[in-house]
Amino acid sequence: MRELFRILAVARGQWSWMAAGMLLAVAVIAANALLMAVSGWFIASMAVAGTTGAAFNYFFPSAAIRGLAILRTVGRYLERLVTHEAGFRVLALLRVWLFRRLEPLAPATLERLGGGDVAGRLRSDVDALESLYLRIMLPLAAGGGAILAATAFVALWSTSAAGVLFLALLAAGVGLPLVARRLAEQPGRRSAELAGSLREAVTEGLQGGEELILLGAVERQASLVDDLSRRLVAEQERLAAGGGVTLAGGIVCGGVGVAAVLAIASFQVAAGELGGPLLVMLLLFAAAAFEAAGGMPAALQHLPAARESARRILELADSPPPVPEPATPVPLPATTEIVFRNVSFSHDPSLPVLRDVNLTVPAGGRVALMGPSGSGKSTVADILLRFRDYGGSVTLGGIELRDLGGEAIRGLIAVVPQQPHLFNGTIRENILLGNPAAEEEQVRRAVRDAALAEWVDGLPLGLDTPVGEGGSAVSGGEARRIALARALLKDAPVFLLDEPTEGLDFATEQRVIAALANRTEGKTVLIISHRPACGDMAEQVHYFVKVP
Ligand code: ADP
Ligand code: MG
Repeated sequence: MRELFRILAVARGQWSWMAAGMLLAVAVIAANALLMAVSGWFIASMAVAGTTGAAFNYFFPSAAIRGLAILRTVGRYLERLVTHEAGFRVLALLRVWLFRRLEPLAPATLERLGGGDVAGRLRSDVDALESLYLRIMLPLAAGGGAILAATAFVALWSTSAAGVLFLALLAAGVGLPLVARRLAEQPGRRSAELAGSLREAVTEGLQGGEELILLGAVERQASLVDDLSRRLVAEQERLAAGGGVTLAGGIVCGGVGVAAVLAIASFQVAAGELGGPLLVMLLLFAAAAFEAAGGMPAALQHLPAARESARRILELADSPPPVPEPATPVPLPATTEIVFRNVSFSHDPSLPVLRDVNLTVPAGGRVALMGPSGSGKSTVADILLRFRDYGGSVTLGGIELRDLGGEAIRGLIAVVPQQPHLFNGTIRENILLGNPAAEEEQVRRAVRDAALAEWVDGLPLGLDTPVGEGGSAVSGGEARRIALARALLKDAPVFLLDEPTEGLDFATEQRVIAALANRTEGKTVLIISHRPACGDMAEQVHYFVKVP
């Protein structure tokens, strides 16, 4: 339950909406039950008055009936309005809260958790929490309120009938839900887990479709999806069966409870302790109270699944940021010399990636970092960008990276990542990310220097050509050069280029290198590559070997 309380604490700002919705729900139930009770009493009293010829004031009860009917209708409308508003407000709050919590985790933690599952969790687990208020808290509050109010009301006329009614309502509203919870606990948790795995398998199958076809592994992936969805359906069937049992139990409790109230009240009528019309009133009131408590088992049945969603959301939100931020960041240095001293790094302690790395890039100097694939070159870039923490010392302009704010450091560096990401927009939009305020002329120049001009000019839409989702409509080399143009447009004091000419032909590479040398004049440049041409543009080449 702690998970759900924490989620509720996040929704603190909307508590007044939630409370208003619950009060309205209880008011509607009360109006409905009272309407039934007063109507029953009124009709019975009129009948008695008719047969005995006694005088009967029907103005007050008929006004009450009309008032209650209006209250019930308007209240129901307001209740729907307010509770849904509250539900959506809570969801919106949770989404923003979760996004804020996740943002600093990128990219190291998110990649560990698997992209498909993260997106799926965000959507469906937060959506599942919509039921926390609308389908769990609301029916529980309304049902609980109804049980207490009904008992108190009936006790005004007959304490023994009230006692029996209370026990029957308790059995229907609390006893049955406990049974229902036991029945739903396991299948609820399993179906949330299976739904997550299924989503992951489908996403993976779609994203890796090409590879699966090439490897002839489509059947295997398909049977994995098939197996998962079969198991999901089986768990959902168990959930539904449990729901059926508790529904039937609710009807039985209601029948037995109303029959017991009828029996007790009949004895009281026979003994002259209770008027006949009041018997009718109590019966109808009891029936209405059972209807209100009837929502409780379903609410408690949803509880395990909501708790599982809450647990998964909190697990994600509580993941420690891979790189801690300093409490009070030191101001940025005036120079940009980069010095790695005895730097070590590992994803897994038994497999060190970097060990005692020493590397200096003088301010305004150009250093190339070369070495075999897997020797940790891109890891050096990630450390410099504060996407990964490190052992040893790394300084920028003489200040330890740990003492600087991550955002501030990244603001100083123009990056071409090894695997650049293009956003689903046009070429221009993707380049402008480097500097959204740039003039058209600056964009043109970046395009020329990234050796993109001929290709772009040959496109019917030019710079306004869409690149597709994740850059699917352009080649890997084109994507890399778009990322290069983006970095050139950013024009920061430090350039960090991770294999910027990978996939380019010799002539294009030469042009890119020449333009880069020109554009990074006087800047601090770390260029990672295993291509000789990149080494040639550097003043100093640093060779990496794989940690043995
Ligand atoms: P390079 O850029 O020199 O090819 P990387 O810095 O990308 O090398 O990777 C260095 C080592 O770290 C490799 O052995 C790689 O398998 C490992 N590695 C990279 N990313 C991860 C990760 N997220 N989890 C575990 N190991 C990783
Ligand atoms: Mg690399």
